[in-house]
Amino acid sequence: MSKFRCGIEAHIQLSTRSKTFCSCPTSGSENPNTLVCPTCIGLPGSKPVLNKEAITQAIKVALALDCTISKETFFSRKNYFYPDLAKDYQISQYEIPIGTNGNLDGIRIRRVHLEEDPGALIHKENTCLIDYNRSGIPLIEIVTEPDFKSPNEARLFLRKLITILEYLGIYTRRSEATMKADANISTVGERIEIKNITGLKEIERALDYEAARQEKEPARQQETRGWDSEKGITFLQRIKEGESDYGYIFESDLPKIEITKQMLDEIKKQIPELSLEKASRFKKQYKLQPEDAETLAAEKELAELFEQVAEEIDPILAAKWLRRDLMKVLHYNKKELKEIKIEAEHIIELLTLLKENKINDATAKDLLIKLIEKPFSPKGHVERQKLGMIASEGELERLCKEAIKNNKAVVEDYKSGKQEALHYLMGQVMRLSGGKANPKITEKLLKKLL
Ligand SMILES: [Zn+2]
Repeated sequence: MSKFRCGIEAHIQLSTRSKTFCSCPTSGSENPNTLVCPTCIGLPGSKPVLNKEAITQAIKVALALDCTISKETFFSRKNYFYPDLAKDYQISQYEIPIGTNGNLDGIRIRRVHLEEDPGALIHKENTCLIDYNRSGIPLIEIVTEPDFKSPNEARLFLRKLITILEYLGIYTRRSEATMKADANISTVGERIEIKNITGLKEIERALDYEAARQEKEPARQQETRGWDSEKGITFLQRIKEGESDYGYIFESDLPKIEITKQMLDEIKKQIPELSLEKASRFKKQYKLQPEDAETLAAEKELAELFEQVAEEIDPILAAKWLRRDLMKVLHYNKKELKEIKIEAEHIIELLTLLKENKINDATAKDLLIKLIEKPFSPKGHVERQKLGMIASEGELERLCKEAIKNNKAVVEDYKSGKQEALHYLMGQVMRLSGGKANPKITEKLLKKLL
């Protein structure tokens, strides 16, 4: 895979309430062809009117990707015939994109531009239906240089891109599932383009497949290929055409857009601290390990929860529990932080109980599992359910003696020098205590009694 090189063109829907060139809403109905008007189904005589919010959001993304912003830009018609495009052209930007020459964590961004989404084709048995609800929703296209050295690098890049959109407030529930990408891949042979791969996981699968395929059989001609996600294979669509084949022409129904310094300054003010800056601040301010800082900052909700908890709790402890234990519990239950209601004050209570030795790690983990189901006060719960750790030496000594009495052979092992025997006895005391024994005191007592 050493010769693998890949560049990505990612298409992501913006989160405007209305479409790019008409006032139809971008969501609110699942019924096909109900969010449409003469403009977005391309009826003769209809004229596009630019939604300024789409431009603002596109500029935000370009700025967050460290792009140079064009002072002036305009729209072009990208001509092609396909039923998902009622007016036979897509309004896009070609000559002057909104942003150029950006960078995201070492990956060069060639351009960022705004365009409209076409309609959706719905294949049913032998028929094909068209839903124009999607037609005209603003899309941002982000084109990278061929800087990815593996399919995994490309996936990580797209994940970071999603994080940026989340921080900018542009990410919607649709974004990840509807994110589309075209990928240019070369290994040793000619360049291959895979068109229209939908969803983050599929993009990586398609790249993995194509990398392996080209490794075996270097491409002899430039090709455009499709991705069949059911079969997990790419297939030849056509011998590659160039961009010029689309016959871009100037969109004379829309005015040129001037991006003034004043406009840019206004938009810059609306850009919050993004994940990379946040991660480096976490490292400095809270003395976190780089990996912990990066993981926490990579998800907006997680970063916010961490900062709230770190106000009251040792940040290193907070980072460990949020980044490892909470993430593990969520992952195991196939949930995401943004889907659940978890209160910072409850995490603070939980970690305070743990820190003050009132509960042990096992109880804390159990409580965490319950907390992702619904909010409740861990402190009250521990009191009511009597989950507090047993720290009374008298009671623990009784349990230790019982464990020693029941496990004579293990005791002999310990006496002959086997350290694991002690762990076994600790486990027995833990079991006798219903998981509530204070481990430190238990260990001390066992050593004394043995
Ligand atoms: Zn419309």
